[in-house]
Amino acid sequence: MTLSDLRPTTTTLPRLVSAGLSYRDHDGSTVEYAHLDHGATTPALVAVTEAVAAAAVTYSSVHRGAGFASRVTSCRYEAARESVAAFVGAREDDQVVFTRNTTDSFNLLARALPAGTTVFVFASEHHAALLPWADAVRLPIPHSHAEAITLLDEALRTHPGEHRLVVATGASNVTGEHWPVERLADLARAHGARFALDAAQVAPHRRVDIAALDIDWIAFSGHKIYAPFGAGALVGRSDWLDAAEPYLAGGGATARVGAGTGAVEWAAGPARHEAGSPNVLGAVALATACDVISEHEEAIVAHEHALRMQLLGGLATIDGVHVHTLFGGRAGAPVATITVDGHDSAEVARVLGDEHGIGVREGRFCAHLLVDELLADRPQTTAVRISAGLGTTSEHVDRVLAALRSL
Ligand code: PLP
Repeated sequence: MTLSDLRPTTTTLPRLVSAGLSYRDHDGSTVEYAHLDHGATTPALVAVTEAVAAAAVTYSSVHRGAGFASRVTSCRYEAARESVAAFVGAREDDQVVFTRNTTDSFNLLARALPAGTTVFVFASEHHAALLPWADAVRLPIPHSHAEAITLLDEALRTHPGEHRLVVATGASNVTGEHWPVERLADLARAHGARFALDAAQVAPHRRVDIAALDIDWIAFSGHKIYAPFGAGALVGRSDWLDAAEPYLAGGGATARVGAGTGAVEWAAGPARHEAGSPNVLGAVALATACDVISEHEEAIVAHEHALRMQLLGGLATIDGVHVHTLFGGRAGAPVATITVDGHDSAEVARVLGDEHGIGVREGRFCAHLLVDELLADRPQTTAVRISAGLGTTSEHVDRVLAALRSL
């Protein structure tokens, strides 16, 4: 197989994304910007910007007005909830709570844990999934799927308890590799524990069906699935959410307020945690992105698989470039985290940006423990992450490969 066999064949998918950026360089030339930082934030889908523009025409309160405009806004907001529910295969009695992002979703869930819940989390997780839980049992970083299963099994055996929650990611934001979600969720269930999935890095690439996988909660962010910043979702079981104190106290979260301080009956359902006037445009954007990804899922998977092969195949041919993986680079998102012999990572990212018009991310990607371990035998303390997506063409990948070759 040659490199050209590995090029993405789909040319229509990048057109779903809003037109690429170009800018005037200091020498007057026009630079076509190549966004290879999808792992951080994705460009907006055309359908998303159109849906937001349409929804922005009517401004009226959600569930707080009797007039036509209010009914339209309320309908848009609830329809968005249904789209998100469909995207993740939510069960009949699951809740879709709109949040700000994945971080917010996990902080909400952390506040809803029954007293005495033990949380189990791998040290390799993004800080959004690692840090919200007080006194979590932190599992070592595994180097294979089998090791991840063994580590979790041991931890669940040695930490019994009435309420236990396992939190794990679907795909690493550092290496792009998929995690064995189905097996981890099965294992948690076999031990009587619940399972929450960090889908921030999976949702942009494929649907996750929480009913089919029997996952209790899933969290993801709009800005990573081609919608704007400011909206995310926590979807899953109602019981712990309905029993918890509201995440935000205020209007909309109440069923009844009595005269005495504390005489409040809180609403059940998502309203309980969504006090205040909601982010309707964010919800509409998020839902539209979910619909588009569902519709094009097969093509997206094929496009991104080809990008991943082109990227990893190309990087393997460049002397001095090291691709850092956890599970040996098995299946995953089109993401590569690299260091380059003799170069500081910040300098590599600067050259890619300033001299080649390529946007990547440099650092430790809010997964400090994982990056520290991956770079343990390297002189660099940070790495460069190249992350492709729906808006990426094979030409973008060629450009980053050529730029790295020229270092
Ligand atoms: N989880 C993973 C795997 C991520 O990659 C990220 C963001 O990079 C997050 C959680 C947090 O997402 P947000 O910043 O949108 O809350």
